[in-house]
Amino acid sequence: MTTTTAVTVLGLGNMGSAIAKTLVARGYRTTVWNRTASKNAPLVDAGATAAATAAEAVTASPLVVACLLDSTAVDEVLASVDSAVAGKVLVNLTSGSPAQARANERWAGERGAEYLDGKIMGDPPYIGTPNIMLPFSGSPTAFGAHEPMLRQLGTVAYHGEDAGAAAVEFMAQVAVGYEFLIGFLHTLRLVQAEGVDVAGFAERVAGSLAGYPPLLTSFGKAVKSGEYGPDLGSLDVQAALMDDMISHRESLGVEAVRMREVKELMDRRIADGHGDQGFSSLFELLAKRP
Ligand code: NDP
Repeated sequence: MTTTTAVTVLGLGNMGSAIAKTLVARGYRTTVWNRTASKNAPLVDAGATAAATAAEAVTASPLVVACLLDSTAVDEVLASVDSAVAGKVLVNLTSGSPAQARANERWAGERGAEYLDGKIMGDPPYIGTPNIMLPFSGSPTAFGAHEPMLRQLGTVAYHGEDAGAAAVEFMAQVAVGYEFLIGFLHTLRLVQAEGVDVAGFAERVAGSLAGYPPLLTSFGKAVKSGEYGPDLGSLDVQAALMDDMISHRESLGVEAVRMREVKELMDRRIADGHGDQGFSSLFELLAKRP
C-alpha cells in the first residue's frame, strides 16, 4: 500500500466518513472537507487533513472523491470548486440518476477534469470490505489509473465509458431488491394470516434462494434472444394456479394486487397465442402502455 497517494474526500456524512476513514487506514494521504466543519474532527484524529473550503480540498489532491447527500448538494459543491478542478480526477459516489452522472461528466470535461461516476450498494460499516458493491463508469483512463484506490472501498466493477452506466446498474439493482422485498412482505402477511410462524418461514425462504441464480441467468438469455422456453412450466399451466393464489390472498384479507398483475399478464400472453411459453415471456408485455 502506498503512503504517497493523495486523495480528497468531499462530504463527511455517514458514508463519506466511512470512505475517508478507510482511505486513511489504508495509508492514503487524505484531505477532507465537509460543509459542517465539526464533522472533520474524528477524521483529523485518525490522520486526515481538514481543508477550510471545498476548493482548497480539491487543490490538495489529484484524485477527488465526492460523497454528498444528493445531486443538488453535488451541484452546489461543484460550483464552489469550479476553478480548482482542472487536471483532477473527480469520482462522484453520490447516489443519483444516469442523466445527472452524464451532466457531471460534461461539467468536468468543460473544465479539463476527468470524471468517474460510482454508486454504492451497501451500508457504511461495510466500506472497506468485499461486501459492498461499487459499480463505476466514465473515463477509462481514470478508472485504470485509480482502480487500486477504488478497490480499497469494496468490490468494484467497471461498466464502461458512458458515465451514466453505473447509475443504470445501481437503479436496476436497487429496483430488483425493492420488487423482491415487497413481494416477500406481502407473502409474510399471507403466512402470518394463516397462523404460520413468519420468522421460521423467512428462514426457509432464505434457504431456498440458492435455486434462483440459474433461473435468473436463463431468464436473461431468454429475454436477450427472444426465445422463451416453458420456464416454471408453460403459461397455460401456470395461469390455472393464479386464480387460487388470488382467492387465497383475498380470503385472508391480504393485498392481492401483485398476483392479479401476474394473472393479467399471463392471460394476455395466452390470448396472444403464447400459452406454451414460460414465465420469462411476460417480458414482452412490460413496456409502458401508450
Ligand atoms: P448523510 O446524510 O449522512 O450525509 C450527507 C452529506 O452531504 C453530509 O456531508 C452533508 O453535509 C452533505 N451535504 C448535504 N447537502 C449539502 C449541500 N447543499 N452542500 C454541501 N454538502 C451537503 O448521507 P450519507 O453519507 O449516508 O450518504 C451520502 C451518499 O451516499 C448519498 O447519496 C446516499 O444515497 C449514498 N449512500 C448511502 C448509504 C447509507 O447507508 N448511508 C448507502 C448507499 C449509498 P453536512 O454534514 O454539512 O450536512
